[in-house]
Amino acid sequence: NVRVRFAPSPTGPLHIGGVRTALYNYLFAKKNNGTFILRIEDTDQTRYVPNAEKYIIDSLNWCNIPFDEGPNKNEKFGPYKQSERKDLYKQYAAILINSSWAYYAFDTSEDLDFLRKDHEENGKTFIYNWHNRAKGKLINSLVLTADEVKAKINAGENYVIRFKSPQDEVLEMEDEIRGKITIDTNTLDDKILFKSDGMPTYHLANIVDDHLMEISHVIRGEEWLPSMPLHVLLYRAFGWNTPKFVHLPLILKPVGKGKLSKRDGDKLGFPVFPLSYTNKETDEISKGYKEEGYFADSFINMLAFLGWNPGTEQEIFSLDELVKSFDLKRVSKSGAKFNPDKTKWFNQQYMQQKNDAELTDLYLPILSEKGFFIESETKKSVSNDKITSLKTARYDELYVQKVVASIKERAIFVADFWELSSFFFEAPTTFDEKASKKNWKENTSEIMHQLIAVISKIEDFSSANTEKEIKEWITTKEIGFGQVMQPLRLSLVGALKGPHLFDIIEMIGKEESIKRIENAIK
Ligand code: GLU
Repeated sequence: NVRVRFAPSPTGPLHIGGVRTALYNYLFAKKNNGTFILRIEDTDQTRYVPNAEKYIIDSLNWCNIPFDEGPNKNEKFGPYKQSERKDLYKQYAAILINSSWAYYAFDTSEDLDFLRKDHEENGKTFIYNWHNRAKGKLINSLVLTADEVKAKINAGENYVIRFKSPQDEVLEMEDEIRGKITIDTNTLDDKILFKSDGMPTYHLANIVDDHLMEISHVIRGEEWLPSMPLHVLLYRAFGWNTPKFVHLPLILKPVGKGKLSKRDGDKLGFPVFPLSYTNKETDEISKGYKEEGYFADSFINMLAFLGWNPGTEQEIFSLDELVKSFDLKRVSKSGAKFNPDKTKWFNQQYMQQKNDAELTDLYLPILSEKGFFIESETKKSVSNDKITSLKTARYDELYVQKVVASIKERAIFVADFWELSSFFFEAPTTFDEKASKKNWKENTSEIMHQLIAVISKIEDFSSANTEKEIKEWITTKEIGFGQVMQPLRLSLVGALKGPHLFDIIEMIGKEESIKRIENAIK
């Protein structure tokens, strides 16, 4: 029975590395008919950010990877917020105290700082473990009598509960991606499990909850690998079965070395968050993929490939296809370099796949902002009171769909549409200077006058027919195609760009075409 969890701490917006972890958990769960759980790990009160939890849930929803169990959803194993499970952890800390797997420690932070500094000065790292337990200044229940411990607690002295790492053992562990990992337990810190503020640390809460929520696989980022020995030992201390561990490779900077950070995104101009986010304290806005115009399915497809590959040439995968193909065996050990260009490439690929009606729906609000009222049978793109101020009702949704079909292959984002298609809606007001200089020659205006006469007489104004008739005229007049086509395109579009010229002519119609040529001659 596969049960996996995504367990973010609500300390800020979810980095794409976190979304990738959520995605792999989701894919693995769905692939195995399992359950994908969201657990909010909010035991560190000092780092808690109130709107972060909502941000996490909104992000998963936008990505279309909803959780099966979590806050306010199928709360079978709930609550799913650790702050609401506070009392539970205390009991489990007590169990470890009773079985001597944990002990009270009364060290002041000054003492610990002193020891750390002292070690540093001698070129050593301070490890709080059996080497030190009974030595020096460390004051804990391993060197105090039971009565002394009781007296200190009763006197209200601050304490923490620490895990008692075993001595002289080579601990063997198994990671599903990395295989066998061993560690000398003498190198382990006796980590704090419970703090005097009544809150557990991440380690205790995480293990207790994974056990109680019957988690089968712990799939998380590589940054948690150093915690694995403690976690494995905690399962042993409680006498519980250990879930399988899967540590995912880091997502690396596009250039240089190290983990992808928000700074890299800011520097190179790409987001590292799924949704845009405003820091309430600093008012700083971080860009999100959604707001930058990325499609959620393309974003997810791109993320899936950051650390996994299907072993074939196929790169475009729907979410369903990802579920079918996903395999932990094909997750790489080494870090995955984030590639902003590839991210755009994915969006462009998805753009081509989207149907024109769907893209039209996304384009309509932009058009109405530009002042175009698009007639629709079923829906209005703008509210009624705005219509009177808008330019024209000439265009209907089908027209916009045709426009979209003719330009989408050149677009990466819907936001590119206007730049690529404004001439379908309004006459150019400027003409590309360089192109005009080169293509509008002395005799061009005369040729364009003649062309207007030809166009006026064309009855069947389909793209194919206007092309046929205009080309026939060019051939009989022996003018040379370039001398007509380039100035004609300049007149209609304002630049030497855009889709097939005769498609444009058909779309904007005879009257408008003539008007634009006349305007260009002037
Ligand atoms: N709360 C941890 C985090 O923020 C969870 C790590 C884990 O999955 O064990 O990533």
